[in-house]
Amino acid sequence: MKYDVAIIGGGPAGLTAGIYAARGGLSVAIIEKQGIGGQAALTSEIENYPGVETSSGFELTLKMQEQAERFGVNFVYEEVLALHLAKNPKQIVTQNSIIEASSVILCMGASPRNLGLAREMEFIGGGVSYCATCDGAFFRGKNVAVNGGGNTAVEDALYLERFASKVYLIHRRNELRADKILAERIKSSTINVIWDSVIKELEGDKKLSAIKISNVKSGEESELKLDGLFVAVGQVPSSTLATEIDRNEKGYLITKDDMSTNIEGVYAAGDLRQKTLRQVVTACADGAIAADSVSKWLTEQKK
Ligand code: NAP
Repeated sequence: MKYDVAIIGGGPAGLTAGIYAARGGLSVAIIEKQGIGGQAALTSEIENYPGVETSSGFELTLKMQEQAERFGVNFVYEEVLALHLAKNPKQIVTQNSIIEASSVILCMGASPRNLGLAREMEFIGGGVSYCATCDGAFFRGKNVAVNGGGNTAVEDALYLERFASKVYLIHRRNELRADKILAERIKSSTINVIWDSVIKELEGDKKLSAIKISNVKSGEESELKLDGLFVAVGQVPSSTLATEIDRNEKGYLITKDDMSTNIEGVYAAGDLRQKTLRQVVTACADGAIAADSVSKWLTEQKK
């Protein structure tokens, strides 16, 4: 079957694009390799999505998925291996099939950046995690640290306070990048912030048991005994499959205001796009704009 539009990625941007495109009468496939909801589904609490006072990311994105299904979006749970975007129709190669579509909206989002430390990969599942919501409950009564100073790090640290007996927040500067409201919550928490510090080494036998920290101002090195380390030092765009699309030096895809890319009929929406604010609400807005642009472009093609 050939779709009017294939949406790659089922996070808030992809789901919203699906809702708008299907509601607009287009045949739509959302192709997703993991769970629906993207990174937002792993967020413990979302309190800045207008009209929804508070919700877990999982519940909010599940509602988006149900809404997309009601409008007739077809969900394809397969990993995309390659994209041939300049072809007509465009081709999406998965492990099982080649999906064809007149247009494509790229919504692959971003994934957590790692620290690049020796043994970091070895300790994944053995103390090192990139998702507090997924793994926090395993650290009940334990000592944990979060590395980073952005919204994710602060939210993770506050979330981990529910389970861990001690939570440290290690940040490379002496000021948090996170929103003020979140930074204020850290002040009134029991979280111990270790400022101006970077992690140099991960230690342990089969599991993480300690980390070596270096103070970037004094050069002083110290050891911190830990059961868990949550890495929250930013994101990298999941744009490697979109080899034909123009990108900036960090790998984020470049789009115009209508979400179009350098290839006709190919659009990008959400966190993998070059933009100034990465939030669920801006991902949804991107998705809606991309779907509207696709619809107009397809109408033009038929003339
Ligand atoms: P981010 O805002 O880019 O913050 C990354 C943090 O990690 C920064 O504090 C940065 O330090 C630090 N860092 C980067 N590389 C490092 C390294 N190699 N070693 C040590 N520290 C390092 O990333 P994020 O927190 O994942 O958030 C991503 C986007 O999602 C942001 O736009 C954020 O606002 C959004 N978000 C929003 C919410 C919300 O609104 N509730 C929740 C989660 C995420 P510096 O500060 O020194 O650069």
